[in-house]
Amino acid sequence: MNKNTKLLLITIDGPAGAGKTTVSKILAERLGYKYIDTGALYRGVAYEAKKSNISSDDDAGLEKLCATLCLEFIRNENGLRLFSNQIDISDEIRTPEMSMLASAVSARKAVREYLLSRQKELGKGKGAVFEGRDMGTVVFPLADVKFYLDASVKTRAKRRYKELIGKKDSPTLEEIEDDIKHRDENDKNRKLAPLKAAEDAIIIDSTELGIDAVVNHMLSHIINCSS
Ligand code: C5P
Repeated sequence: MNKNTKLLLITIDGPAGAGKTTVSKILAERLGYKYIDTGALYRGVAYEAKKSNISSDDDAGLEKLCATLCLEFIRNENGLRLFSNQIDISDEIRTPEMSMLASAVSARKAVREYLLSRQKELGKGKGAVFEGRDMGTVVFPLADVKFYLDASVKTRAKRRYKELIGKKDSPTLEEIEDDIKHRDENDKNRKLAPLKAAEDAIIIDSTELGIDAVVNHMLSHIINCSS
C-alpha cells in the first residue's frame, strides 16, 4: 500500500478455526502492518496460571498473577514468538489443554482487565491487524475496519485437524470438533466481552471460501477505507 495512505487499525474477530490467524498474517504482511494474535496472550496467562497451580476460577490468584506477568511478542529467526518473563512459551501454549484453559481464564474479570490495557498499548500508533474475539466490540470499538470471520463447525474442525496432523499427541477429528463446540459455547455465552460481531463489522463466512478469496475481499474494504 502507498506510503502516503493513512495507517489503519484493523480488527478480525471470530470463533476458533475460522482462519483468522492465516488471513491476519497475510493482511499484515501485504499492508506492512504489525500482526497481534490476542488469543496467544490469553494462552500465555493460562500457561502461567497452570505453572503456578492457580485454578481458572481463583480470581484473587489470577489477579496477583497478572500483576507480575510480562507478556511480549518478539520477532526472531523462528518468526513472531510470545515471551513470558523473557522465556519463549510459543510452543507450550499451542496444546489442546491450553486452548481450553485459555477459554476458561478468559472469562475472568482480572484477566480481561489486565489484557485490555496490554492490547490498547499494543494498538497505539495503528498500522496493525488485531485478531481475537472482542477486538471490534470491546478493545477497539473505534477501529477503522472490522471483520468477523466465521465458518461451519465441521469446516473449522477439519482445518484444525489438518494443521495438527503429525504433531505429537495430535487429537482426533471428533476431539477437535468437541473442543471447538465447547470453546464456542464458553466464548459466546460468557458475561464479559462475549464473542460476537460488532454492529459495524463486515461479516465473512469462509465455509466455502479459500484463503485468497477471503484476503481479497478484506483488502477491497481496506483500500476503500484508506484512500
Ligand atoms: O484465538 P485462540 O484460539 O488462540 O484463543 C484462545 C482462547 O482465548 C479463546 O478460546 C478465547 O476464549 C480467548 N480469547 C478471548 N479474547 C480474545 C482472544 C482470545 O477471550 N480477544
